Amino acid sequence: MDQTVALEEKPQKFGYLDFGDIKGQEHVKRAMEVAVTGGHNLLIVGPKGTGKTTLARAMASILPDLELEEKAALFQKRLWKQQMPLMEQSVPGKRAFREISASITRSQMVGEGRRADQSEMLLANQGVMFFDELTEYRHTVLETLYRAMVEREITLINGRVTVIQPVNFMLLATTATCPCGNMGDYIRTCSCTPAKVRKY
Ligand SMILES: [Zn+2]
Repeated sequence: MDQTVALEEKPQKFGYLDFGDIKGQEHVKRAMEVAVTGGHNLLIVGPKGTGKTTLARAMASILPDLELEEKAALFQKRLWKQQMPLMEQSVPGKRAFREISASITRSQMVGEGRRADQSEMLLANQGVMFFDELTEYRHTVLETLYRAMVEREITLINGRVTVIQPVNFMLLATTATCPCGNMGDYIRTCSCTPAKVRKY
């Protein structure tokens, strides 16, 4: 990533910045457009303080509208559960963009022992799960995420009831280049040892 993200002052959509208002970072923006178009997962890597989070959040404004079948599948699921409210941050026809808190637990990710609308992975269905600074999340959360992405389904165990639910979301994540976050920065110097960087 280049050093900083330049922004124009304009009203924000989706509570986040509009993609079109970001100046520069053309190669990152291009990668984001390709990812969104093809439904590919994306990891944005760069030194700290370069605007990775702002850029990532702006992706919410370029998500394509839901296809008719996708809309129908989400709608049916909500009706069937009778407890799935309209997803916050997403209006009908729009894809969900879920920014996941670094304090999330494995059980909150899956929604185990909770209502289906409290499963972050189900709420992100047909949309995006955004993990800011991926290395700051619990190991168990990342493992659950990995398995869900490989298996494309999650198992919800609520009391004696076990339900297998298909999940299909795009992963968007950011990470710094090293533990101190300065590696690759033009001005600040990285203070990490090579061994620490490798482990990171
Ligand atoms: Zn460093």
